[in-house]
Amino acid sequence: MGVKVLLVEDEDNIRQFTKINLVREGFEIIEAESGEKGVELAEKHNPDVAVLDIMLPGIDGFEVCKILRRKYPNIVIIMLTAKTQDTDKIEGLERGADDYLTKPFNPRELILRIKSVLRRTNTEAENDQIIQDSTFKLDMYSRSFYKNGKEITLTPTELNIIKLLMENPGKAITRDELMDKAWGKDFIGDAKIVDVNMRRLRSKIEEDSTHPKYIVTVWGVGYRWENRK
Ligand code: CA
Repeated sequence: MGVKVLLVEDEDNIRQFTKINLVREGFEIIEAESGEKGVELAEKHNPDVAVLDIMLPGIDGFEVCKILRRKYPNIVIIMLTAKTQDTDKIEGLERGADDYLTKPFNPRELILRIKSVLRRTNTEAENDQIIQDSTFKLDMYSRSFYKNGKEITLTPTELNIIKLLMENPGKAITRDELMDKAWGKDFIGDAKIVDVNMRRLRSKIEEDSTHPKYIVTVWGVGYRWENRK
């Protein structure tokens, strides 16, 4: 089974150019010129990856991201941002994107990022490991996560982060290590993506994400999983 990529981009030349490169790489491409069309095609084709432009006619890429993430927790979402403002990137990530690329981008870089997130996801899917502590349970076979028996839906990247943290309770994990393990060794984005994902993760699992007690910040280093068995 090939990897299905939904590409939502209203600019014909960028869409065609990206498509040619992804097809050459062996991906199956489903293309949409608008957010509405993208959502519709996602329902029909159930893609593994969505590449979303932000500025679209009708509903924008952020909105598409939110809808797709709600419907398909396991889909890998990469945002294409035309602007360089960090606020755009962060807004996209908080709505559930796994990664972003700033336009103009090199299709090679997009391919690397897709592969790197998928590699993590696929490797872990073969793993039947269950990690548990007094509050949380992570089941890597079904890729599900529970807090006090209640399931919390996590994105592929969030699951990879949680796995790394729970495997190393009490240990300070650096941002570099997180990027290596949760995004893949060839990840070339910036470290800010780690903090944004952590913020999103905390809002899902902490009782009070402004005073986190499970995912603790280690100043100048990274993060630590505080919950012991
Ligand atoms: Ca556009």
